Amino acid sequence: MHSPARRVAGMGSTIFAEMSALAVRTGAINLGQGFPDTDGPALILDSAVQAIRGGANQYAPGIGIPALRQAIARHQQRHYGIELDPDTQVTVTTGCTEAIAGALLGLVDPGDEVIVLEPSYDSYNAMIAFAGGVRRPVTLRAPDFRLDPAELAAAVSPRTRLLLLNSPHNPTGRVLDAGELGAVAEVAIEHDLLVVTDEVYEHLTFDGRAHVPISTLPGMAERTLTLSSAGKSYSVTGWKVGWATGPPELVAALTAAKQWLSYTSGAPLQPAVAAALDEAPDFPATLAVELQARRDELVAGLRGAGLATYSAQGTYFVTSDVADLGWSSGREFCLALPERAGVVAVPLEVFYDDPDGPGAGRHLVRWAFCKRPEVIADATRRLMAADLSNA
Ligand SMILES: *Cc1c(COP(=O)(O)O)cnc(C)c1O
Repeated sequence: MHSPARRVAGMGSTIFAEMSALAVRTGAINLGQGFPDTDGPALILDSAVQAIRGGANQYAPGIGIPALRQAIARHQQRHYGIELDPDTQVTVTTGCTEAIAGALLGLVDPGDEVIVLEPSYDSYNAMIAFAGGVRRPVTLRAPDFRLDPAELAAAVSPRTRLLLLNSPHNPTGRVLDAGELGAVAEVAIEHDLLVVTDEVYEHLTFDGRAHVPISTLPGMAERTLTLSSAGKSYSVTGWKVGWATGPPELVAALTAAKQWLSYTSGAPLQPAVAAALDEAPDFPATLAVELQARRDELVAGLRGAGLATYSAQGTYFVTSDVADLGWSSGREFCLALPERAGVVAVPLEVFYDDPDGPGAGRHLVRWAFCKRPEVIADATRRLMAADLSNA
């Protein structure tokens, strides 16, 4: 038997893959993995087909085709007033996932500390580890999942290199407010830290809340690398077209690592995403309105089923606490759920350094509401009819 490298030993497969496989195996409704069950706008799909027919089938430039980089720069201008040079301040990646990898491999040296919000999206921890960095989590705690500025300040050490931010936040659905963003900026400026911010849910905010990119705060543009992707905004999560924007030297550092990962990908998808950004700029806002209604329906259903549920300010996700129903572990709850109710959710414990720490997530599970209304209705009916208690 050949054993894997220490780098990956014990990593297993992601919890999303594990729970999606459980859904397939049991025929349960998959509210685990966050992907929509409808396509993005026809305009963008047609445009990709045309690009394939039109011969855009060979390597795109490593930093992405000019039309897409220009469209990304226009997007940042249109929504946030951010001015970018599309040739030096924008790079196209294989989804936001590769942008995260490129940012961490390109900016973190072995031994550098990286502050992350937890629960944290699982690729962050894997890539910090690949880079040889040391993770310093700052926990967002139920019920409101606020970022505590004092805890953030206390996480900084002389070895801190960067702050990895994510807002709107997966999995808690939290959108950081002006006070929290200001606190992050203050800490970053005081200690001269870099900020890498994952904003894939930038357009998926609810109840009139606006997403504010941290790079727009005074003193932040020069130290912030902003990451996003077409996947969530345009309901094309399988396309894996993402991007990073920011000061030329940070974009160059990311690109230096990224060129040895995929080098480039998605040649025919790149013009289609450019068309989406330019010609369907309102699609994401319309999607957010639909998602908000589905969030409300799912939250009502979960509460109706006896689950203590925290609503979301953005993203695809809401969170429930299963402790009141007698479960000591969200994982056990999720493993039992297909049989009990024919539904799959994802336990949050894997997104914490110490899921049993104060206010942490051993009992929390995440539900995705980015599904068709009839699917949400079916899932909530099943949950309400099921016995979910572990008495
Ligand atoms: C979905 C997701 C990603 C991955 O984006 P891709 O474009 O699919 O690679 C990154 N970060 C967060 C927080 C996500 O939820």
